[in-house]
Amino acid sequence: MSHKDISIKSKLDSIEERLRGQGDQHLDFLAHKEQITRILELVERKNVLVLGHNYMAPLVYSISGEKERGDSLALSRRAAETRKPIILFDGVRFMAETAKILSPEKKVLIADVEAGCSLADPFTADDIRAYRARYPGSPVVTYINSYADVKAESDYCCTSANAIAVVKHAARESGARRVIFFPDSLMARNIQNELRRDGYDLEVVYPGRDDDLFGRCEVHEKFTAEHIRDIRRQFDMPKGASNAAVLVHWECPPEVVAEADYCGSTSDMARYITRRPGLVRVYLATECEMAANLASEFPQVEFVRTCGFFCQHMRRITLDKILRSLEDEVHEVDVPEAIRVKARRAIDRMLGVD
Ligand code: SF4
Repeated sequence: MSHKDISIKSKLDSIEERLRGQGDQHLDFLAHKEQITRILELVERKNVLVLGHNYMAPLVYSISGEKERGDSLALSRRAAETRKPIILFDGVRFMAETAKILSPEKKVLIADVEAGCSLADPFTADDIRAYRARYPGSPVVTYINSYADVKAESDYCCTSANAIAVVKHAARESGARRVIFFPDSLMARNIQNELRRDGYDLEVVYPGRDDDLFGRCEVHEKFTAEHIRDIRRQFDMPKGASNAAVLVHWECPPEVVAEADYCGSTSDMARYITRRPGLVRVYLATECEMAANLASEFPQVEFVRTCGFFCQHMRRITLDKILRSLEDEVHEVDVPEAIRVKARRAIDRMLGVD
């Protein structure tokens, strides 16, 4: 057996090990073993970095190594570090674009270029320019779930993990009492509420506050406060319990955030569970594959799986399309250089806040 064959076999074994005990996921692995082997061969032969977002289906997610799985920012940072010439981003298009912004010399592939996002898709650089004209002197903070042209018109980028810190920083640096936040209207309301709770005299303006625009994640907007209270009742998960927790994403409506034990990004949720070894039951108010993926990492925790909220855009990334993208090196993501440089500046300014 050659060194490459040994490496592929060891990756295959570790995928199987990860999915063993996860019922249908293991069966899914056995049914697709040949296809996964072919993908791993191409990854090895072409020296590809495969990045897997937390919302990928478990089988797709498992193709990425442990350090190559996570949220969009962690994965883009990983993309920036790699020496591999090709990056395959298993996530949606704005994520692959962010990887390209940070690693312009790499070939960045995505299995399906139509993998969009309800937050990113409706907005363009013109919207940012219109808001700047309407609220002169206010810095613009743009959530990472946006395309490169929108990032390029912004002062700062942010993620769900650092949005509040970036908004505070942007206000401090500019001396403004008002910050423009794009494009997530629900996250903006959550940020405004948090700032008020912390006693900050800072106004957040966002799509939908003073106009009829609205930026929302079509998955997270579906959660309701009643839904969370039902879960607590049905699964004996009272608020504040030491052995159970309801974790909510910042993209959910404010009344859902109010019902949470903890609110954060997907990476924050994983860290929260790691830091609390006494947890035996967890409910995640976020895209449903996240619970399936964390179940492999925290076998001691029961993840309440009543969820039916899947992201149609993430689901476009399938094994078939990954195989084709790797074979023919198709669906390359590119960003015009002038836009890339400006978008990079907004990302770098965010990284300077962390
Ligand atoms: S889960 Fe929501 S924010 Fe994430 S890609 Fe899907 S639509 Fe966009």
